[in-house]
Amino acid sequence: MPNQILIIGAGQAAAQAVDVLRRKGYAGALTIVGDEPLLPYQRPPLSKKYLSGALARDRLPIRHQSFYDEHRVEVRLGRRATTLDPVARRVTLDDGSMLSYDALLLATGSTPRRLATPGSALTGIYYLRTMEDTDRLRAEVRPGARVVVVGGGYIGLEVAATCRELGVEVTVLEMADRVMNRVVCEPVSRYYEAEHLKHGVRIVLGARMQEFSGDARGRVGAVRCADGSEHTADFAVVGVGVLAEDALARRAGLACDNGIVVDEYCRTSDPAVWAIGDCTNHPSLRYGYRVRLESVDNAFEQAGTAALDILGTPVPHDKVPWFWSDQYHHKLLIVGLSQGHDRYLLRGDPTTHTFSAAYLRNGELIAIDTVNNAKDQMAARKLVAARVHPDPAKLADASIALRDCLPG
Ligand code: FAD
Repeated sequence: MPNQILIIGAGQAAAQAVDVLRRKGYAGALTIVGDEPLLPYQRPPLSKKYLSGALARDRLPIRHQSFYDEHRVEVRLGRRATTLDPVARRVTLDDGSMLSYDALLLATGSTPRRLATPGSALTGIYYLRTMEDTDRLRAEVRPGARVVVVGGGYIGLEVAATCRELGVEVTVLEMADRVMNRVVCEPVSRYYEAEHLKHGVRIVLGARMQEFSGDARGRVGAVRCADGSEHTADFAVVGVGVLAEDALARRAGLACDNGIVVDEYCRTSDPAVWAIGDCTNHPSLRYGYRVRLESVDNAFEQAGTAALDILGTPVPHDKVPWFWSDQYHHKLLIVGLSQGHDRYLLRGDPTTHTFSAAYLRNGELIAIDTVNNAKDQMAARKLVAARVHPDPAKLADASIALRDCLPG
């Protein structure tokens, strides 16, 4: 058992790791270092209720200072870890201070992918990762303002929905031929597209964004696309994916490949270093391939896995992942990974606003998207984990409960 555990990154995964370590009896020194000036907080509201103003700032922290005090956790905020020396087992911070460890947990998250198109340096262009990002964006949001959202994935669409509800004129530019195309099947994409159109959002599909153009003060004024179209913008929001924040690990020589490479116990290539959350590339035992996931659920589960392994009671990370997105009053919940499906079936009629899409690979249920469908959602995790081969005819009949869709 280590005497000194150091956690780099003070986000969702770090907060959970501390919780599990102390609950499971770790009594040694515990330090968290985070480069933001805030205690670990929830990021999902940043594009939803915190952006809209419906959720106050003091509701975002995962735990308050008293929790860290009671659990004897030293939290160093506003400090970035710059160097990791795996041989000396030491991390250097940006103020020159050095911290030693017996066990190091990297929980450095991810960072928005930045556009390098002409005009990217103009002001009024926003990326969303931190509370500070949302605070700055919120200052632009007012009825009648015009925003161009680049990217029709979750973050872009959530920002579009929130802005629209606050009276902003919204245009979404999406490169693909449908929104959220990486993660959901066509009927789910079309459902969300229709809902946004109904709320007055302009969605441009197949949009090849070419440049931001600005005014004399260096502020964005429009977004131009390759087909010559120009979309006027008082401000712009870019949501085109994230990159794993693995620079510290890479510089230290740890194996990295689209994230810090870990095994099913969250162990890295160095025996004294674990990594958890968005920054990892981990094997999915359920699916048989490596994934990099960006979700609260994954951060939470991996934190538990690493904590148990550090304490010498290893349990492999083998949960079916899930993810949610809130847009307007619609709740999308994705259970499992649909990548590699050879067929999908709809359960229910999208025009009723309650339906699901079930994904099959060689007859096996590998994932389900549920839209406002709490009943299917409850059964989904169990069935996907159990690798069931449902009867397709039953599966396509929404009057039959999901758990009753097995053959026979
Ligand atoms: P983070 O929570 O990002 O924490 C990492 C922390 O480490 C950050 O504070 C970072 O600044 C810090 N850090 C990085 N490098 C260093 C360093 N060298 N030294 C010190 N500190 C460092 N997930 C869902 O499941 N559902 C949703 O609806 C959803 N919505 C989201 C909406 C938005 C706007 C965003 C940004 C994310 C959303 N997510 C959602 C994703 C979810 O928030 C992340 O998957 C989760 O926060 C990952 O936790 P983490 O601990 O791995 O990383």
